[in-house]
Amino acid sequence: MNSHPERHTLFTREQIESAVNRLAAEITQNYRDKNPILIGILKGVFIFMADLVRRLDFPLEVEFIRLSSYGSGRQTSGRVKVVQGLSCPVKDRHVLVIEDIIDTGITVAFLINYLEKKKPASLKLCALMDKPSRRRKPLKIDYPGFTVPDKFLVGYGLDGDEQYRNLPDICYLEE
Ligand code: 5GP
Ligand code: MG
Repeated sequence: MNSHPERHTLFTREQIESAVNRLAAEITQNYRDKNPILIGILKGVFIFMADLVRRLDFPLEVEFIRLSSYGSGRQTSGRVKVVQGLSCPVKDRHVLVIEDIIDTGITVAFLINYLEKKKPASLKLCALMDKPSRRRKPLKIDYPGFTVPDKFLVGYGLDGDEQYRNLPDICYLEE
């Protein structure tokens, strides 16, 4: 990575907030009586997850799983492994996977397959951002936030070499 890339805002904190509000309203409609388990994929999802769950006013549980596919570079390796697994059973539970951004789809496709084997009552997907131009695994995003261009995005939890997660806006870097 260039050491001084220029930063451009793609979505402001206000735009993000209204997308999160809309997703929370849709999720509330479908899950208010289901005591779902929301499974966030670390690390990128941590801020989105924190904002989302505070807008869900019904019983739910929060879990995190840590997967790796990118390593420290920007290209997916095509291989996914579980770095830190779940601490609760999901059998017969309503499971909603929460992801920050879906690019090739390899990470989420792996997780969906991994969770399906555990026989949840239902399994759906929410992603704040969808980058469809590089998709390699077909996926249905049940609760999509933004569609984004093929740019490397940082901020609002997303990193570039572990930096920028703390930016309140979603930005892209121009080298
Ligand atoms: P996949 O290619 O498997 O869909 O995405 C792999 C992982 O790369 C995702 O979990 C996501 O966190 C991360 N990722 C995908 N696109 C971007 C991006 O534009 N910026 C950052 N910081 N991470 C991304
Ligand atoms: Mg991620």
